[in-house]
Amino acid sequence: MRTAQCLDRMAPYLFAQIDAKRDAMRARGVDVISLGIGDPDLPTPDHIVDAMAEAIRRPANHQYPDYAGSPAYRAACAAYMRDRFGVEVDPDREVLALIGSKEGIAHLHTAFVDPGDYVLAPSIGYPVYSGGATLQSANTWFMPMSEENGFLADFESVPADVLAKAKIMFLGYPNNPTGACAPDEYLDRAIAFCLEHDLLLAYDNAYVDICYDGYRAPSILERPRARECCIEFFSLSKSYNMTGWRIAFACGNERAVQALGTVKNNLDSGQFTAIQDAAVAALTGPQDCVADMCATYQRRRDLVVDALRAIGLACEAPKATIYVWAKVPEGETSESFATKLLEQAHVIVTPGNGYGPDGEGYVRISLTTPDDRLLEAVRRIRETM
Ligand SMILES: *Cc1c(COP(=O)(O)O)cnc(C)c1O
Repeated sequence: MRTAQCLDRMAPYLFAQIDAKRDAMRARGVDVISLGIGDPDLPTPDHIVDAMAEAIRRPANHQYPDYAGSPAYRAACAAYMRDRFGVEVDPDREVLALIGSKEGIAHLHTAFVDPGDYVLAPSIGYPVYSGGATLQSANTWFMPMSEENGFLADFESVPADVLAKAKIMFLGYPNNPTGACAPDEYLDRAIAFCLEHDLLLAYDNAYVDICYDGYRAPSILERPRARECCIEFFSLSKSYNMTGWRIAFACGNERAVQALGTVKNNLDSGQFTAIQDAAVAALTGPQDCVADMCATYQRRRDLVVDALRAIGLACEAPKATIYVWAKVPEGETSESFATKLLEQAHVIVTPGNGYGPDGEGYVRISLTTPDDRLLEAVRRIRETM
């Protein structure tokens, strides 16, 4: 049999490789601490689990869900946008339920790019932006990012011939993995650029709720004219410790939302309605669970940043996200340093080059490990250095 050529061009999924290494070491009895993957260790709050327990017993929920999401879920998403950001979206036309935002982001390519087209992706970012393009036999142009420009992707440097074939520009702040946040002025420039070049701006807002030090992350739809060119992705995964539940939503420009909906109508039949009912409880219920979680991550962030600086690794304390992005020591690469930490300290960190070309020279450390294990990991890293 012959598989599609685009599959041969897919880089192996970064986290799958790291998981394999970890499993091999654990099988040998090594106590490996993973600071690799961004998967919250804290449980889903009780009131959300309780809502699910009730919802699962309702026979109506056992049938096929509404393709675009249940009316109750879409209304809750619209209410969240209004209450949090002062943004009005029409729950019927401008909101779409997703089976996790990874699903929506990956399928956005099917709705927008043809073979040979370009997508513009941050040169340090979520691997699905470029992976989705490869699966469509399309190309990715990586927009440069650096510490000097605050890790704000430089779209103004994209060459004209690439722009002519580009359909989507992906951005996501607060940014995984750098922890960078985008000022409003940058978002406004990005919107103006996408309008000028007839691009869809796909804004990945997975970390909007995970903010520290009083910072408040915006929705891009707060910005003027955003509705003309933006689709925004929100996920319950990080905000409510629901990564395993697979529930998210897209909202924004109606044409973009509807195009993504058309792809999904033909590929999936929506998310289990009981999960959507639980998500309604998450979005409309008490939000102190989110504040508590942020306090936990902030404490861990400070612990990691202090320890890294003490051993001479340069890093910023991020204002948002669940990651610390640290420069590797002189003479090391992302890969060599991550390997050294795995082999000598039995600690997994993610090599920065796995997030794109400009990630070289950095590693990403997740804050999703309980405090005692995080402290132990930091102690081991200190010993190794
Ligand atoms: C975790 C994450 C998501 C969310 O993915 P889900 O599929 O909703 O779990 C999206 N984008 C980025 C950058 C992430 O880190």
